Amino acid sequence: MAATSLYKTQKLKIYNSISSQKEIFTPITEGYVGMYVCGPTVYSNVHLGNCRTFISFDLIYRYLKHLGYKVRYVRNITDAGHLEDDGDQGEDKVAKKARLEQLEPMEIVQRYTVDFHTILAKFNNIPPSIEPTATGHIVEQIETIKTIIDNGFAYLANGSVYFDVKKFNETNDYGKLSGRKLEDMIANTRELTAQSDKKNPQDFALWKKAEPEHIMRWPSPWSDGFPGWHLECTVMSSKYLGERFDIHGGGMDLKFPHHECEIAQGEAACGLTPVNYWMHANMLTLDGKKMSKSTGNILSPAEIFNGESDKLQKAFAPTVARFFMLQAHYRSILDFSNDALEASEKGFYRLMESIASLQHLKQSDATQGFDIPGWIAECYDAMNDDFNSPILIAKLFDAVKFINSVKEEKATISTSDYQLLYSAMNEFVFDILGLTSINEASSGISNKLSGTVELLIDLRAQARANKDFATSDKIRDELLSIGIQLKDGREGTSFSIN
Ligand code: AMP
Ligand code: ZN
Repeated sequence: MAATSLYKTQKLKIYNSISSQKEIFTPITEGYVGMYVCGPTVYSNVHLGNCRTFISFDLIYRYLKHLGYKVRYVRNITDAGHLEDDGDQGEDKVAKKARLEQLEPMEIVQRYTVDFHTILAKFNNIPPSIEPTATGHIVEQIETIKTIIDNGFAYLANGSVYFDVKKFNETNDYGKLSGRKLEDMIANTRELTAQSDKKNPQDFALWKKAEPEHIMRWPSPWSDGFPGWHLECTVMSSKYLGERFDIHGGGMDLKFPHHECEIAQGEAACGLTPVNYWMHANMLTLDGKKMSKSTGNILSPAEIFNGESDKLQKAFAPTVARFFMLQAHYRSILDFSNDALEASEKGFYRLMESIASLQHLKQSDATQGFDIPGWIAECYDAMNDDFNSPILIAKLFDAVKFINSVKEEKATISTSDYQLLYSAMNEFVFDILGLTSINEASSGISNKLSGTVELLIDLRAQARANKDFATSDKIRDELLSIGIQLKDGREGTSFSIN
């Protein structure tokens, strides 16, 4: 790949949420990247906001792989322990849905895990390398709790185990990711209610004793209960990526308390701060407000694909919605609207048409009107600058303009530059941005279908020549039964699809 040789002179920089700075990315082991991203809580259909976060990390995964890293990408499925208030109170989200629908919790988990996978595949997201579940790692979670208790950072109260934030903060820095100070948190929180088992309101559950009506429960040394939500990510990331690993990602709303608690748990369990680069993707908003399941301010991917929402004037292909999202930087808030999506759709088609026309572009002895190697370097500069996809896309449109100039014979391109441009456009658009060409995808299928029907027409002609009318009729009738009609004429047999 000629184009990729250029990136090697530049360095990838990542905005690290913990230092609030862009830092040069240096993996723990040269050539390898361990990346953990918090996955969905599978108690309802994913909404477009969730998809944005996973598309952001898909871009990051694709680009790291493109740079030649061997990436182990772990993204969990939260199927237990995530309570209604995102803290220690309320029903388990999965169990509540199961109760309302009179289903087994695992039926809920299965249904929405399948939905999640189906939708992300439509957006052309690459599946992670490992997708572990909370319920599949209860044993490991219990072991980690024991270690945190042994290290003096957790206490038992009425069958539940809580992380002792005050104790932890004596030797460590609770709040370093979210930029909070424990004293301020204490000053700003209400006193504990008399029923609370916690020593301090900031303490969070590692293990909760299940109330009699709580159906998702496991035995443990402390009680029949369930793990705290934050613990699964500490346990599964360290199991598959090591106690210290390169990148941890998630939506911005997970920074506190979820990721703050992960740092505390990791440090309390093994004395190491677990993550080198914290990455947070920003929110998709609708009418200026965060898309969120709890407020109902959401659009579903299905509504985008079929256009059936009062927020939309038409349907949009998944790849157009993906393109729309990638036109914003992953750390910027992005507001959704029908008009913005329509504008993206126009841009998308312009880009795709240009790539299609690239195949027939006239080549000359020399290039005039564009510095192709310089342009490729700028594309890499954009991506190396904290995965700046909007700048990359702007650069791609510079190439579109140049391609048009060549078509109009106002500029020229040499054969060697043509090869560079061709491979760079394809790599950036399809491999890195992960876009798919709508026409190509459907014409690819129809080409294969035509080839298959032609083959059957040949076999039928042979059968007839051999007077094997049973076979020839079978081919004709079976094709007709699936809506493909053969027509015998003077020129031979043709077909139509009904
Ligand atoms: P959940 O299933 O609620 O745990 O969320 C799954 C992921 O989607 C998390 O990383 C959230 O931060 C992210 N997320 C939730 N709402 C939005 C939104 N409106 N925009 C972008 N990401 C979101
Ligand atoms: Zn998590």
